[in-house]
Amino acid sequence: MHPSLILFDIDGTLVRRTGPYHRQALVDAIRQITGLTTTTEGIPVHGMLDPDILTLMLQAANLPAPEIAAHLPAIQTAAEDAYLASVPDLRDKSCPGVPALLAELETRDIALALVTGNLTRIGWRKLERAGLHHHFRFGAFGEMAPTRGGLARLAIERARRENLIGPQSRITLIGDAPQDVRAAQENGIQSIAVRTGITPPADLEHSRPDHLLDDLTQLDLSII
Ligand SMILES: [Mg+2]
Repeated sequence: MHPSLILFDIDGTLVRRTGPYHRQALVDAIRQITGLTTTTEGIPVHGMLDPDILTLMLQAANLPAPEIAAHLPAIQTAAEDAYLASVPDLRDKSCPGVPALLAELETRDIALALVTGNLTRIGWRKLERAGLHHHFRFGAFGEMAPTRGGLARLAIERARRENLIGPQSRITLIGDAPQDVRAAQENGIQSIAVRTGITPPADLEHSRPDHLLDDLTQLDLSII
């Protein structure tokens, strides 16, 4: 059993500036499955779950709700395939302090898992390309629950079910968006926000995280 569990967001928290490949995979998947030309322009993708981004793209293309629901599973699979076929090496895209921090957390026997809006295969491959995937035991991904709070709950439940953590274990969620902070608050766990994403600083402060850091080099390991 581990003394604590840390749940990590991916984009803007572990990696950043990872290129257009993720957005392009969503666009390409929608075109492949529906024939529609769509865009992520104008959609506040930051902090959103991939299925919600796809839904907004399809709504903007005036696809009726029943058709969106019918096509979404196939679009998600196609998006994962498109991403896997296109993503380049991302080993220089880690956020500041991340590789060293993950290695240090492992030596301290802290359990690490992912809570991300990325679709499952996109999230894993992005981390693999960044050279970070081997630190994480499991994850809760975009298609697994309707909200980020729901994803965090799934991850916590799994950690308890697998006896990775006990009643006394501290649980923390680290992310770069107000949605990450809210997900932690909804689950009654500690929230750490990092300013390494594109969230305006005032928005992140307004979400009232337990701790707000410029980047993960500032993380005080005594709080986790
Ligand atoms: Mg993020």
